[in-house]
Amino acid sequence: MPDAVDAAGPGLAERLATVQSSIGDAVREAGRRPDGVTTIVVTKFHPASLVRELFDLGVTHVGENRQQEASEKAAELAALPLDWHFIGQLQSKKTRQVLAFAHTIHSLDRPSQVAAVAAATAASAENGGNASVDAFIQLNLTDDEGRGGVRPHDLAAFAAAVLETPSIRLRGVMAVAPLDEEPRRAFARVRAAGESLAALAPDATALSMGMSGDFRAAVLEGATHLRIGTAITGNRPAAG
Ligand SMILES: *Cc1c(COP(=O)(O)O)cnc(C)c1O
Repeated sequence: MPDAVDAAGPGLAERLATVQSSIGDAVREAGRRPDGVTTIVVTKFHPASLVRELFDLGVTHVGENRQQEASEKAAELAALPLDWHFIGQLQSKKTRQVLAFAHTIHSLDRPSQVAAVAAATAASAENGGNASVDAFIQLNLTDDEGRGGVRPHDLAAFAAAVLETPSIRLRGVMAVAPLDEEPRRAFARVRAAGESLAALAPDATALSMGMSGDFRAAVLEGATHLRIGTAITGNRPAAG
């Protein structure tokens, strides 16, 4: 698989340092603590060798959105103490495979997934694997019902179902800013939804939001988990 990095442009280490420095600026501007923001580097479509390079540069949180691709990379890099985050659409029948590598799922949005996670964690615990998983509920900030995520007015009911599942540690809400809305406004809506969730679940205060193009706005609105791909990795190779 060809590496997407443009040999003439800045290298991986330089792009990582630039993004980290911009995040630091935003954290200071927001008057927040640096340790309140976790940067997940999204490595989807990139080979395991790039994840290894990132690890050598100090990255420990990586994000993937396709189960099979992620399972292969995680297996290849099993010797590295990486935290794998699953940020893609979770298919119930692939839940067991996702839980085999991911310690956090960012995309819960359907009751059937909650049941599948409960079953998969129970099976995993019996085999000496992870008995629980961290999870975010994905919000749909658009008016399109077909998009992934729970509509904000359905959040409380869905959260109640998640909270009935002891093997899921609900961390908070996740969202992608819609293309047609100013990101800061969209992230303010996520923050408000997060506050309503925290009223139901006092430990679920995390906000997974902010990507390559909008992480500053996300930090200013309280993001605790940034999911940043291309600004660090360079352009993604074509989907294989
Ligand atoms: C790909 C992806 C990202 C990273 O996007 P970039 O624009 O490359 O930073 C973040 N979140 C989700 C859910 C993604 O699928």
